[in-house]
Amino acid sequence: MRKLVFIVINNHQKQKTMNKLITLIIAMILFSCNNKEEYKIPVYGWLGGPGELSDQEIREEFRDLKARGIDGLMYNGGQDAETYHRVGTIAKEEGLKFHAWIPTMLQRDNPKIKPEWYAVNGLGESAFDKPAYVDYYKFLCPNKDEVYDFLSDMYGAVAEVPEVEGIHLDYIRFPDVILARGLWDKYGLVMDVEYPDYDYCYCDKCVADFKEKSGIDIKVVEDPSEVQEWKQFRYDLITSIVNRLAEEVHAKSKQINAAVFPGPNSVAKKIVRQEWDKWAIDAAFPMNYNDFYLEGTEWIGKVTKEGVMALNDEIPLYSGLFICPNPERKTQENDPENHGLLPGELEAAIRASMENGAAGICLFTPRRMTEAHWKSFEVAVKKQYDIR
Ligand SMILES: [Zn+2]
Repeated sequence: MRKLVFIVINNHQKQKTMNKLITLIIAMILFSCNNKEEYKIPVYGWLGGPGELSDQEIREEFRDLKARGIDGLMYNGGQDAETYHRVGTIAKEEGLKFHAWIPTMLQRDNPKIKPEWYAVNGLGESAFDKPAYVDYYKFLCPNKDEVYDFLSDMYGAVAEVPEVEGIHLDYIRFPDVILARGLWDKYGLVMDVEYPDYDYCYCDKCVADFKEKSGIDIKVVEDPSEVQEWKQFRYDLITSIVNRLAEEVHAKSKQINAAVFPGPNSVAKKIVRQEWDKWAIDAAFPMNYNDFYLEGTEWIGKVTKEGVMALNDEIPLYSGLFICPNPERKTQENDPENHGLLPGELEAAIRASMENGAAGICLFTPRRMTEAHWKSFEVAVKKQYDIR
């Protein structure tokens, strides 16, 4: 009898142990499935708005983007802090990271900005009333205290919005002294060398400050593009603005990052004077827009690697990818703005970025993605990539 009781108890315990074991195995299976499902590379998207959209319409779009695999937005909603509060609240509720994407040196007419604060080219023309290339190319001079104060006030107010996680600088540069190769036809230009029409800034303050620093009067130099100190002087002006803004934004416990040209050495420094590996930012978003340089997806890997090495693994680099909005019309389009990655190229572009050390990608823009793009995207972002 005693034995029987023991056997019953023993069986009961065995059953309990068995149940525990089964529960554990099921939990492990579920955990590993979940883990596999959840793995995805980090993805940001550049998005503008809100225009006339209602809160409900904004919410629907954000929910859709989140479900498709977008983790965060670089959101351009003008310069009013209130807009970022309104849209940022919805973004947070929908589980998206939210950064305020606001151009820096490119500033349209604004009662807070005086015409004399704009940059001046090598011919003495102001970007205010004679902008290079296109009407909106109104760049400020990065060497004026008033310009810095304007930027500091504007970004400072936006950084104070609780829903804003970071400030995303854009057009934090000089106008293109050399245009990307893919744009030469569009503007009917051959830009193999620096021309004074597109070379900034030759305002009185920049010329005088450079003379004081280097002893060189740049206005009498026959070919300023030969003067390395003059190049460095201008890289440093941009770097100084970024680093001063970074200090202020960090003091508000927010991040600061920037959309930059590829490189920095192969493109960004040469054509827009961005020495972005010297910037005190929290992440770099190089616009690795291969079509603008008449390059394929393997070039995206090359410039990603260059950027990652220049940053010395100290800050993450997100590879900016330019999406073709109408894939079936790409070959008939002359304007590179309508070119970009086809659905069939997207996976290779993501692979090239990730295998060369990118921390993730950033899409320009989620709204340009066709269903075919999303299909390819869904597969590509869930792969595990080994850094080459
Ligand atoms: Zn200047």
